[in-house]
Amino acid sequence: MSKVISEELGAIARQLEEQLKFYRELGVADINGAARPAETALRANSKAAAIVEPVIHVSAPVAESVVSTPAPITDAVIIEPVQPPAQTTTPVEEIMPKKKEAVTQAGLFGDLAPPEEPAPRAKSAALPLLESKDPSLEAIREDIGECTRCKLHEHRTHIVFGEGHPQAKLVFIGEGPGADEDATGRPFVGRAGQLLDKIIAAIGLKREDVYIANVVKCRPPGNRTPERDEVATCEQFLFRQLAFLRPKVIVALGSPAFQCLLRTKETITRARGEWRDWNGIQVMPTFHPAYLLRSPDKKREAWADMKKVRDYLSALPD
Ligand code: SF4
Repeated sequence: MSKVISEELGAIARQLEEQLKFYRELGVADINGAARPAETALRANSKAAAIVEPVIHVSAPVAESVVSTPAPITDAVIIEPVQPPAQTTTPVEEIMPKKKEAVTQAGLFGDLAPPEEPAPRAKSAALPLLESKDPSLEAIREDIGECTRCKLHEHRTHIVFGEGHPQAKLVFIGEGPGADEDATGRPFVGRAGQLLDKIIAAIGLKREDVYIANVVKCRPPGNRTPERDEVATCEQFLFRQLAFLRPKVIVALGSPAFQCLLRTKETITRARGEWRDWNGIQVMPTFHPAYLLRSPDKKREAWADMKKVRDYLSALPD
């Protein structure tokens, strides 16, 4: 075997190992049979990324070693098909076609089969979308400058502007930088960021395929939730970023990001999993990775939300 082939096989093995580790973190207790190539290789930025979706059965979170030694399977531990959560303002039927709900599901947590067409868009609300002479990301960053517009500048080390692909179809929005982000100037690089990387990989994408930003660009002291005046001052830059990026989907991570975008007081617990709309862009509210680290039992719900995102994106025309 040539050295090149050997190295490639080694890289694939490492990737699979990482993927399996993430499934275990999501609560996967057993993998029944060999992994098979996903039918929903998600394309982003003209790059196809095949993901591996083993047929699995799920029970409570288990020890690291369980995946390599499948536990006995009973019908009682098979996860039921994911049903759309109770709708609040927009009927789910308007967003997710009914035929999708009826699909017999198999795979990770009862994987949905890829939809044949994108879900219809939710009705658009009138939300702020700022105009500027130069809409580019560079111009937005230049406008922020060494910002002192709100009190969060007092303790920051770096402004965390956001980063990623300028033509990303998928954008993740968090509430604000943490300690690692403040130290590096990059979004989502701490433990929560590492979990976000795994979530991105689980839907068949790489971090460089997507764009990641926060509502406020400077770290709130002690990682507290950004205060209303801080959000009100800083959100203009996020809105301009989104207006430039025009992604197909925005994933709002946690209540502050969701509430800022949608101008609502709804909590993420109530809203998660339901498609919303921000200026004609589909929004999927879901839990923040930092919350998932504290409450790993919620990973299953977050994964259900992310599968909707994956299926929506994979059904879009290239
Ligand atoms: S959080 Fe935003 S508005 Fe406040 S100082 Fe930082 S960049 Fe400026």
